[in-house]
Amino acid sequence: MELITSVEQMQRRCLDERQAGNTISFVPTMGFLHQGHLSLLEEGRERGDLLVLSIFVNPAQFGVGEDFEEYPRDLQQDSRLAEQCGVDILFAPEVKQMYPAGYACYVDVERITEPLCGASRPGHFRGVSTVVNKLFNIVQPHVALFGCKDFQQLAVIRQMVSDLNMPVEIIGMPIVREPDGLAMSSRNVYLTPEQRLQALTLSAVLTQSRDRVRAGERDAKTLLAAARKQIDALPDARLDYLQICHQHSLEEVANVDEDSVMLLAVFVGDTRLIDNSYLLDVS
Ligand code: AMP
Repeated sequence: MELITSVEQMQRRCLDERQAGNTISFVPTMGFLHQGHLSLLEEGRERGDLLVLSIFVNPAQFGVGEDFEEYPRDLQQDSRLAEQCGVDILFAPEVKQMYPAGYACYVDVERITEPLCGASRPGHFRGVSTVVNKLFNIVQPHVALFGCKDFQQLAVIRQMVSDLNMPVEIIGMPIVREPDGLAMSSRNVYLTPEQRLQALTLSAVLTQSRDRVRAGERDAKTLLAAARKQIDALPDARLDYLQICHQHSLEEVANVDEDSVMLLAVFVGDTRLIDNSYLLDVS
């Protein structure tokens, strides 16, 4: 596996690969890899001749007072895992490579960035769409893989790629969970054992909401009230948002159907966790 830190070198290398007729698949991450990231790499390995992983903790998507400085980083361990997954190139640029002095260009996706994480984290998606746009220009992938764990992020990327006619296929991958249901996240290391126990309620709430829907409940308000009650009962948790939305528009719905997704963000202690689930299986 090759490690590249220079933007120029990475771009030249990918141009050469494309000219040689090779297909590039790409997995952008902020590192501190877990099985969720690895599932994207495994799928990416199948879909391209050259598998590129980027690790870049992107300051532009962190707000004031958020955890940019503390965000967990371990490039050595990540390199080992990436190599085991068959990554060909690990691209890990420095911040000043990506945002040199005088940097002034940002990508703004309208509307679907407004609710949910966009409402709680102003500027977050502007940072995400900007960095993904830059990474696509550098890596020039044929295929890029993203996790449904960040449901709104995936919707924002799809909108950007469609609106800006970017020649890349976007693949959404299922959420990978710990055996007890907790959605895998690099931020889970922040949790104390007691907080981690309380965090299990997030996935439990989603499972129980699905069960209620399976039993016939379709009223979003009723489902949300039951879910909210369970989260409010946790001593160390504070609900950021809990909504049932249409999978594409991300607008709230009154009645649940196959397009409905329950999305939540909860602070457990100081750690902000997100999770989501479709409520009705398409059969
Ligand atoms: P991050 O490093 O958190 O920016 O995540 C990089 C990519 O991995 C994003 O596309 C995430 O949606 C995806 N990802 C993170 N956690 C999971 C998970 N538990 N299951 C599947 N994909 C995930």
